[in-house]
Amino acid sequence: MHACKIMDKQKEDYALPELPYGYEALEPNISKEQLTIHHQKHHQAYVTGINNIFKKLKESRAAGIEIDIKPVAKELSFNLAGHKLHSLFWKNMVPEKKYEEPKGILKKAIEDEFGSLESFKKEFSRAAASVEGSGWATLALDNKTRKLLILQIEKHNVNLAPEVSMLLVLDVWEHAYYLDYKNDRVKFIDNFWKIINWSEVEKRLKENGDNR
Ligand code: MN
Repeated sequence: MHACKIMDKQKEDYALPELPYGYEALEPNISKEQLTIHHQKHHQAYVTGINNIFKKLKESRAAGIEIDIKPVAKELSFNLAGHKLHSLFWKNMVPEKKYEEPKGILKKAIEDEFGSLESFKKEFSRAAASVEGSGWATLALDNKTRKLLILQIEKHNVNLAPEVSMLLVLDVWEHAYYLDYKNDRVKFIDNFWKIINWSEVEKRLKENGDNR
C-alpha cells in the first residue's frame, strides 16, 4: 500500500502555483506588469523546465537511451530550486496596506540572533545588494543549531546548504525588478521591507519546530 502511494506521487508533475493576491496587489512597490511577467513567464519557465526534464528522463530510461547526465542534473537542480524559491517568495509578500511588523517567536528569534530588527534588515539588505549577478538573499533556519542564518544564493542553486529551512527569500534577479527599478536594486530592496508577510515567515519558523 505504502509503495503504491509513492508511485502515485511520482506521477505528479509540477504546476505553477497561483499567487496569494492579485497581480496589482503589491503596487506601488512591485507593478502589475512586473509581477505578471515574473510569475507567468519566468516562474512558469522553471516549472516547464522541470516537467520537461522529468519527461526526458523517463523516456530515455524506458528506451534504454544513455542520458547525458551531467547537464541534465545541473538543469534539474536549477529549475527545481528556481520553482521552489519563487513559490516561497510569492507567499512571503503581502500588500503594503496589510503589512504588520514581526511579532511573537519570530521577533524574539531575530532579536536573539541579530540584536534588533533594524540590524537584521541592514545585514539582509547588504546581502541582497551584493549578490553577484542573479540570485537570492534568504533568512534561513539551521535545523541543527536552530540559528537564523542569512544566506546568499547565486542563480537559484549555488551556495545552497542542505538541512536548512528557508524562512524569508528575496529574488534579486534583474527579472524581479528591472521594469520598475531599472538598475536600482537597492531601491527595490528598500521597498521589499514594506511588503513582507512576517506572519508567513513566523509560520515557517513554527513549522520547523521552533517554538522558543
Ligand atoms: Mn525570479
